[in-house]
Amino acid sequence: MAASESLPRRNAEWLARSLAAVWHPCTQMKQHETLPLVPIARGDGAWLVDFDGNRYLDAVGSWWVNLFGHANPRINAALRAQLDTLDHVMLAGFTHAPVVELSERLAALAPPGLGHAFYGSDGASATEIALKMSYHYWRNRGFPDKRGYVSLAGSYHGETLGALAVTDIALFRDTYAPLLNRNAVVPCPDARTGTTVDAAAAALDAHLARHHATTAALIVEPLVQGASGMTMYDAAYLARARAIATRHGVHVIADEIMTGFGRTGTLFAWEQAAAPAPDFLCLSKGITGGTLPLSCVLATDDVYAAFYADDVARGFLHSHSYTGNPLACRAALAVLDIFRDDDVIAGNRARARRWAELLAPLAARPNVRDFRQCGMIFAWEVDTQRPDFARWCFAEALAAGLLLRPIGRTVYLMPPYILTDDEMALLATRTQAIVDRA
Ligand SMILES: *Cc1c(COP(=O)(O)O)cnc(C)c1O
Repeated sequence: MAASESLPRRNAEWLARSLAAVWHPCTQMKQHETLPLVPIARGDGAWLVDFDGNRYLDAVGSWWVNLFGHANPRINAALRAQLDTLDHVMLAGFTHAPVVELSERLAALAPPGLGHAFYGSDGASATEIALKMSYHYWRNRGFPDKRGYVSLAGSYHGETLGALAVTDIALFRDTYAPLLNRNAVVPCPDARTGTTVDAAAAALDAHLARHHATTAALIVEPLVQGASGMTMYDAAYLARARAIATRHGVHVIADEIMTGFGRTGTLFAWEQAAAPAPDFLCLSKGITGGTLPLSCVLATDDVYAAFYADDVARGFLHSHSYTGNPLACRAALAVLDIFRDDDVIAGNRARARRWAELLAPLAARPNVRDFRQCGMIFAWEVDTQRPDFARWCFAEALAAGLLLRPIGRTVYLMPPYILTDDEMALLATRTQAIVDRA
């Protein structure tokens, strides 16, 4: 506990108690002998404040969930009112206003045809729901052999066994590989590796030409692959993939758990594809503005109809205890109100342009490679000899009052949309100072 002894008392106490009692996610706990763990006392807009009063600019939206700042008064007011009205009721056999309103509004905002909302509590459960629904659809339609999935190289769809089986990140996946169904991986378009849209589409087409009879669905992260390092690709690929999948009788699952709710410049990334809707749209993360866990899978009429029958087992019997939780749905409605009332998408277009200008000097640093932007996401690779750059950068950023969490040598910014230009300028300057020392 050498690290904690040197810290002032209030942070130090929470740090020690947390390391003793809490098993932190996505973490080798032993690294916390040297890596700082930051006890956060409260959130304030784009800032997180620790127990000693240090402030950290939340440049990654607390793992990509926070859109409108911490302790947002509008979302909180909606939550307080809901809390005094209805905290929770099971959604089997019951319904309630927030879940109905949210389902109607999501259907109206999503690509056309996705009118049936099924809820879960986190992103991985949305992936599971979509995978199960797709297989079950084909089974109900008389194609029980269609039970394989295709994902893109570098895909990430969550950590549960089904989601991990369509995830292509060795560090997360390989340990559990013996437990996972084998699925296919096809190339993802990526300018950095020279994989063109044409090449990636041709590979998908070739794969499905051979395997369509045993394939239920293609699952993609539209426009941006997050967890494997912010790979950004052209929307033309989505249109091609949609057409190829349709031609081969294979579903498309659009995992917009990270890209949804304005991150890529449109409310949903799929809108940029100029293509018919996916069969399933998975949403989570920003859906509640980072206040409560909630996920949702929107499905088409055709999918819904395949389950609608006298036979109980033809129905989708999946559930979670907190499916459609009224508080979480109310938070999501408050988020949609903010998008509408503040015309957030239009505002973000201007903001993204100004932020790109503020980041231009950083993008021009000699050790910065492949600086790229998609809407409200900025990412680049850092040329560095440091063996453990990600941890080093995380610690340096904390010392500079920033929350940055690089993926390998990829540094990215995914700040709340409420960041002011001054805050973005500060973020750019401080980040550049760290990059220069890398
Ligand atoms: C985060 C994420 C998930 C998993 O969501 P959890 O809430 O962490 O389970 C799935 N897909 C994508 C694209 C994600 O970014």
